[in-house]
Amino acid sequence: MFGSGAYSGFRVIKEALTGHKGWKPAWRDPEPQKSYDFIIIGGGGHGLATAYYLAKEFRQSRIAVLEKGYLGGGNVGRNTTIIRSNYLLDGNEPFYEFSLKLWEGLEQDFNFNAMVSQRGILNLYHSDAQRDAYTRRGNAMILHGADAELLDREQVRAMYPFLNFDNARFPIKGGLAQRRGGTVRHDAVAWGYARGADARGVDLIQNCEVTGLRTENGRVTGVDTSRGFIGAKKVGVAVAGNSSRVMAMVDRRLPIESHVLQAFVSEGLKPLIDGVITYGAGHFYVSQSDKGGLVFGGDIDGYNSYAQRGNMPVVEDVAEGGMSLMPMIGRARLLRSWGGIMDMSMDGSPIIDRTDIDGLYFNGGWCYGGFKATPASGWAFAHLLATDTPHDTARAYRFDRFLKGRMIDEKGQGAQPNLH
Ligand SMILES: Cc1cc2nc3c(=O)[nH]c(=O)nc-3n(C[C@H](O)[C@H](O)[C@H](O)COP(=O)(O)OP(=O)(O)OC[C@H]3O[C@@H](n4cnc5c(N)ncnc54)[C@H](O)[C@@H]3O)c2cc1C
Repeated sequence: MFGSGAYSGFRVIKEALTGHKGWKPAWRDPEPQKSYDFIIIGGGGHGLATAYYLAKEFRQSRIAVLEKGYLGGGNVGRNTTIIRSNYLLDGNEPFYEFSLKLWEGLEQDFNFNAMVSQRGILNLYHSDAQRDAYTRRGNAMILHGADAELLDREQVRAMYPFLNFDNARFPIKGGLAQRRGGTVRHDAVAWGYARGADARGVDLIQNCEVTGLRTENGRVTGVDTSRGFIGAKKVGVAVAGNSSRVMAMVDRRLPIESHVLQAFVSEGLKPLIDGVITYGAGHFYVSQSDKGGLVFGGDIDGYNSYAQRGNMPVVEDVAEGGMSLMPMIGRARLLRSWGGIMDMSMDGSPIIDRTDIDGLYFNGGWCYGGFKATPASGWAFAHLLATDTPHDTARAYRFDRFLKGRMIDEKGQGAQPNLH
């Protein structure tokens, strides 16, 4: 069924013994056709997952994904790989729990090793008030069928004795654990969905930038691209940090700002952190990759930008967070850092909705939490594109919530992207 041949233990051994000459490219490199039933703009995680589920679950065909660069070159290959469903609000928790369930079966579903590792995530708390807020969040998670566990200081100490428990300003008092959370190898997610979509006939067209959206009588008719005009009955926009730019092609302004978020990797160290830890008194989170590097990040760079690299003040800020949580991190050398463009929505929650233009659909506003949403986002967007009705778990992610004041403001921070 697959152009590259099905993957199996037997195949891996056979190829190893015969010089790996039997592998073929994991997806085709087709020329764009004149028109499609569905065009998905953006070959990131969300766009590829949408195409995959459109073909596989909703039995649609004549689908193309148009990517201006290469598949997985955007945020899907730049994030810090954390997955979790530890949300408080009704609008969010069922959606992210649906996503976590899809992660749990994803590798079997698309027969690709994405290194889904449910190594657990621990959110630290540093005050009684923060403990109460985490208790409430944990209870909300459990009510929605997710797992959550409140740990006291000694339980956290048993897990991570090297943390700075007695920091005079922010002593660690405990943590909220979600054991089913963890990490996934991010670019393998793009590759797995790409391979699965291609095998079901989806045209994945790289180096094809959408430069215009054409409409006629209030209906989308296709897209102008760097490789010519391509007609379409339905167009789905899934371009993450470039959302405002693409929607500006039809003069639509979004409740979204683009900001840079940086990620950092240290030199390889011996096994130290077996889960994901987030600092509750500053913006810092850390895990350890299978190669040994500490993978960590913090806040967005507090200004709007479309650059995929960040500034020094945030590097310093993230390093300060790391030092106050685990001072020995100061002895590790930083190996790499990079940035990605975040589509920060004004309430910190995403949008998966139709637009006022017939046949034009939008998926975005993922802020810096969209990687964990990839499977559910793809599924829900495919549902919307195929059936014109929202998926049950994504009903709240509509544009009109900003008009009606029904924000899904998980952190209660208002329209301040840097605080979400
Ligand atoms: C440093 C960093 C750390 C993060 N950490 C986490 C984390 O730990 N957990 C988590 O859940 N989330 C995290 N995120 C957020 C997550 O990566 C994003 O929310 C998510 O990947 C966005 O969806 P996507 O994968 O579809 O985006 P992308 O991969 O960015 O896909 C969008 C694609 O659209 C293409 N495109 C744009 N304009 C056009 C056009 N005009 N024509 C054609 N193609 C176009 C782009 O080239 C790009 O490939 C992080 C992000 C960053 C940058």
